[in-house]
Amino acid sequence: MERRAIVAGNWKMNGSPESIKQLMQGLTSRALSELSCEVIVCPPNLFINEVMHLAGDKIQVGAQNVSEYAPGAYTGEIAAEMLSAIGCQYVIVGHSERRQIFGETDHQVAQKVAALLDERITPILCVGETLEQRDREETLSVIEQQLNAVLEQCGVEAFSKLVIAYEPVWAIGTGKTASPQQAQQVHAAIREWLAKHSEKIAQSVRILYGGSVNADNASELFAQPDIDGGLIGGASLKAESFYQICKSAG
Ligand code: PEP
Repeated sequence: MERRAIVAGNWKMNGSPESIKQLMQGLTSRALSELSCEVIVCPPNLFINEVMHLAGDKIQVGAQNVSEYAPGAYTGEIAAEMLSAIGCQYVIVGHSERRQIFGETDHQVAQKVAALLDERITPILCVGETLEQRDREETLSVIEQQLNAVLEQCGVEAFSKLVIAYEPVWAIGTGKTASPQQAQQVHAAIREWLAKHSEKIAQSVRILYGGSVNADNASELFAQPDIDGGLIGGASLKAESFYQICKSAG
């Protein structure tokens, strides 16, 4: 099955009014219409509106997190309904920084997926193992547990409406990339896990790789049969490297 590649930039907690303008001008001045992948950028919430104004029609804008709750007395949180109202089409959920630094549980991540699907926003669901878990050969069981939480909360149909991002925690922001073979092995295993529940959805779901992807290593990663693009942190903050990564996809 043909799956259109996605390259999504996770800007994390970076940027200023000046720097985001520069970055967006750098991106929109490049030949975006020649790209065959979908291009998404996920700025800090504060800048989403401004980035939407600067993005044009070739770049979609997403958020990096969402509350699992409906609007109400939750100081500092942003509801799916609000992101939907300003036109956000994608939201990253379950990023390892959210899980590790802010203590998000598999159950909470699943609730966030449900909140987004209720608003017809596409979750980019991050899963992945730590180095210790990989060394203990727990990679697949950890990922299955993360995926099972979403399956139990939202049902298998949810997987036809979301994007999965495999992000080995040991490869995020460390400069250590999973080898294309290591990444492909996990991507194929995720697809096999999903095929046990729905063969059709397993073939259509897009699975992105994330973890120190850059302009030099992107092509080989994206050439793997089960890798459908990337979730890019550091390298998404520079227009040239992000554009080159987009060119490598699809
Ligand atoms: C990320 O934060 O999702 C990520 C993959 O970061 P980096 O590309 O910097 O490793």
